[in-house]
Amino acid sequence: MLRFAPSPTGDMHIGNLRVALLNYLVAKQRNTQFIVRIEDTDKERNIEGKDQEILMILEKFAITHDQLFYQSENLHIHQTLAIRLLEEKKAFVCTCTPEQLDLDRDKAKQDNIAYRYSGRCADMSSGELVRLKEQNIPFVIRLKLPDHPIATHDIIKGTVEVSPSEVDNFVILRADGTPTYNFACACDDMLTGINLVIRGEDHMSNTPKQAHIKRLLGYEADTEYAHLPIILNTEGKKMSKRDNASSIKWLLEEGFIPDAIINYLLLLGNKTPTEIFTLPEAATWLKLENISKSPARFDIDKLRFINREHLKRMDDIRLSKLFGFADSDIGKLAKIYLEEASTTVELQAKIKAIFSPKIPIQEWKTEMKILKEIINNAPVFDDYDLFKNHLLSQSGLKGKSFFKPFRLVLTGAEHGPELGDIYPYIKSYILEIIS
Ligand code: GLU
Repeated sequence: MLRFAPSPTGDMHIGNLRVALLNYLVAKQRNTQFIVRIEDTDKERNIEGKDQEILMILEKFAITHDQLFYQSENLHIHQTLAIRLLEEKKAFVCTCTPEQLDLDRDKAKQDNIAYRYSGRCADMSSGELVRLKEQNIPFVIRLKLPDHPIATHDIIKGTVEVSPSEVDNFVILRADGTPTYNFACACDDMLTGINLVIRGEDHMSNTPKQAHIKRLLGYEADTEYAHLPIILNTEGKKMSKRDNASSIKWLLEEGFIPDAIINYLLLLGNKTPTEIFTLPEAATWLKLENISKSPARFDIDKLRFINREHLKRMDDIRLSKLFGFADSDIGKLAKIYLEEASTTVELQAKIKAIFSPKIPIQEWKTEMKILKEIINNAPVFDDYDLFKNHLLSQSGLKGKSFFKPFRLVLTGAEHGPELGDIYPYIKSYILEIIS
């Protein structure tokens, strides 16, 4: 069983989508279920509507789930399990105030050592719970640190072992009774039998904590991990909100198509048999072992190239429909424009220029008018050369004085692909075009 566990606290970025894609894909390969779990337990950070936005993006990328649930639905289970750990003396209540903890942190900083919980409340018995509740004293529940190192197996990074003190006596239930991320995540992974967790490497430090929680809860099944390296921007820094290209919404708005984004994200830091592929194709060969341990660098030019390649391969009618046309001509026309455009937004601009009223350019104003008039009164020529020769002879124009205004009248642009190449796809719209 695999899962994608987004928090509805921000926009979906390329790192999240890569995680979703790989979980989905490996679930397909293993013929097992894929769960989407919305991690909405941090009420203060949740942003209304982000869950729906994330689900819509997954749908756009055809990443379908077998189960969907919101983590907050399990709140009572999380609380029950925390109390059970307390009763079994695997956890303890802690009444240290935030001020005390801050002092401890400051002290650790001064001493130049890593902060660890002081152990001040570690011996408080679970019987204290009743008194604390009666007297309204705020408390959290902390897990006791393990008595031996915790080792986890990571398909990409190898075996990772951390010492008990690194795991520390961490909080599992906050003073308001809500579970912390690590606790809710480990409980839910356990309850749904997740045996492979694929996620970003920013979670590596959480992994031993979650393994420790599951072990203390008596969960014996092994969990494998695959922590994906971070994605860097062109300056070699971690891609962040400030990099537009990190936002899936932005990429889609810019005219990058889902198939190309999928292809690019699966190619990033990976060894693949081909450069251009679809998601079903990747399912036949993808291996997590082939993903590089080191960070990948985002390259928008590469994505533009991949977008072009997918647009080239797209069915003509499907491509036409993107621009509001129902027949295959405009799709074929758009493919010719891929010589100079890479996204659907750029293609749209080219097609729009062809179909919009042509603003006469001062230099060629007279010639454009002459050509328009001849075309208006001529039959529709099937053949480009016959069409061109007709215009040449009727207008008496020659060389640049013919070709410049001719191109402007047909395409609204001074430069572009060979007119003979695009003519077959625009001829049936010719009167509309020159209007
Ligand atoms: N909600 C976490 C995140 O979005 C999930 C991490 C995980 O996959 O465990 O980063």
